[in-house]
Amino acid sequence: MAKIGINIATGSLQKEEIIVGIDLGTTNSLVAIIHPETKQPIALKEHNTNTLVPSVVYFNKLGDILVGDEAKEFLISAPERTIFSAKRLLGKNYGDIKNNASFFSYKIIDEDANRQVKIKIDNKFYSPVDLSALILKELKTRAEHILKTPVHKAVITVPAYFNDAQRQATRDAGKLAGLDVLRIINEPTAASLAYGLGIKKEGQKTIAVYDLGGGTFDISILNINEGVFEVLSTNGDTYLGGDDFDMAILKYWQKKMNISDEELLNNPSLMQALRLKGEEAKKYLSTNEFYTTTLNDKMLSLTKNDLNNLLKPLINKTIVCCKKAVKDAGLSLNKIDEIIMVGGSTRVPLVNDIVGEYFGKVVNNSVNPDEIVALGAAIQADILAGNNKDALLLDITPLSLGIETAGELMDVIIARNSKIPSSAAREYTTQVDGQINMRISIYQGERDIVKDNRLLATLNLKGIPAMPAGLAKVSVSFIINTDGILTVKAKELRSGVEQFIEIKSQLGIDDETVEKMLLDAMSNAKNDISARALAEASTEGEQLLKTTERFLQKNAGLLIENELAETAEAMQSLQLALTVADKNLIQNKTEMLNDISRPYAERIMNSAVGEAMKGKNIF
Ligand code: AMP
Repeated sequence: MAKIGINIATGSLQKEEIIVGIDLGTTNSLVAIIHPETKQPIALKEHNTNTLVPSVVYFNKLGDILVGDEAKEFLISAPERTIFSAKRLLGKNYGDIKNNASFFSYKIIDEDANRQVKIKIDNKFYSPVDLSALILKELKTRAEHILKTPVHKAVITVPAYFNDAQRQATRDAGKLAGLDVLRIINEPTAASLAYGLGIKKEGQKTIAVYDLGGGTFDISILNINEGVFEVLSTNGDTYLGGDDFDMAILKYWQKKMNISDEELLNNPSLMQALRLKGEEAKKYLSTNEFYTTTLNDKMLSLTKNDLNNLLKPLINKTIVCCKKAVKDAGLSLNKIDEIIMVGGSTRVPLVNDIVGEYFGKVVNNSVNPDEIVALGAAIQADILAGNNKDALLLDITPLSLGIETAGELMDVIIARNSKIPSSAAREYTTQVDGQINMRISIYQGERDIVKDNRLLATLNLKGIPAMPAGLAKVSVSFIINTDGILTVKAKELRSGVEQFIEIKSQLGIDDETVEKMLLDAMSNAKNDISARALAEASTEGEQLLKTTERFLQKNAGLLIENELAETAEAMQSLQLALTVADKNLIQNKTEMLNDISRPYAERIMNSAVGEAMKGKNIF
């Protein structure tokens, strides 16, 4: 990547700009590049430091900000001004996280359940985007210091289940940090790239990416076909990881030492010390058989066998998630070709054994599990820099995207599981005569009635030339770019008036919510279908009533007395059917009114009125 070129204008030597790969993690973050000489991906680190930068931000009372290892030191002494796990809050509102609010030791502002969460420190408010930006800025500065060249461009990774809002929030954080985010890619995709999978077009392969970090577990099933990536399914547990391993060891020792829960709760420094010793023991036993230490003059010990017994139930929980992911992907286990291990906790040998046993294969764990995602991001950066033109990346939308149509119905424009990038358009028309504005409400979800889905944004198409209802032709197009960011465009085709909106930093949801929305859609399918049928029938009936009324206002004089009386009666019974909301009755009465009005309408209608009488689908 860092080739030397000659600037033709000045004749001076210039370095080609470096694009870095960034893993913006919940616990740790890091930057990687492709080494200019070896062409291999490497994680960047300064002398005597770690490649991992803890994703922790500390604000001191003077307004100074520390990020990384220095900030981590304040987690215990100043928990209310030390922010960790900001990634868990990206693109979320308070309603999304209130059940887990106690997990965070800092102040999360909940003034409005529907607004993005904010964190208050002294008298300042910070959004998760601001906090992520501070971490990214630190990574950028680090990279610039190590590479001795400015860094402006990056590829950043996100979990496969991140929705549009969370991807956009990540992109916004990059922008705030002074980075041009060329691409947001999925973490499991990056991990696959780090093993060289999907870089060259080499047929079809199915891959399971098992990611067990400090606090979260994710399993993703990917399909790679001729260099094209597709996420088949994701699953996981947002509160399961190495921290739980440490807690299990802590509890084991607590029992051995006869310490009551109350005693432990009242002695946070003892609890902290036990937890840290627990983590030390866990790591030590990844390569040794026996651990021993002293704490307050008491001996603590743990054998590998003890550890395995403690961890087994926790690791088995991850297997339950794996089973669900394999099932959701619609695959049998033997169809999975490779298992890739990601995250520090996959250094525990028992994790590899149990996962390997479940999938019936030896797992891939040769690439450093802490660095693998950043290394893959660097490989993607290299592809974007034009150094590898063979690979193409593709993901899918987790939920359907659409707009509200008459009767508060969801009209899907891009269906769930569509490949990204993707685009689709549909045409709509106006509901009333002379309508010059059209409000387009954009929703995400699988339910038929929009109020059961998530409102993402509203677009107001203004300046439609006045014309009779049903004549305007409004094309609404949805475009999801390679980062999974949605742009919605509305254009009135007769006049060319258009408006667009990029769906930015709207409120996010996690994979559990996605799963819940899918389950809700399935369990309510029957009710939804009848609600949709009623809404459609009502819209058609109402529309026919309106157009008949308008027709009569203009043309009553051209109708014979009998026609007028019959029409009035049919309109009345349709109105009644609409009031009682009986779908069959509405359809019946709509048909009757249509039958009565059709002969005279045909007789006298001019072309424009004729259009309006057809009772077409009106927005
Ligand atoms: P990550 O979130 O991917 O950085 O993973 C961090 C987790 O990996 C923490 O819970 C660490 O305790 C754990 N971890 C790191 N190194 C080891 C090791 N050698 N053996 C077991 N667990 C480890």
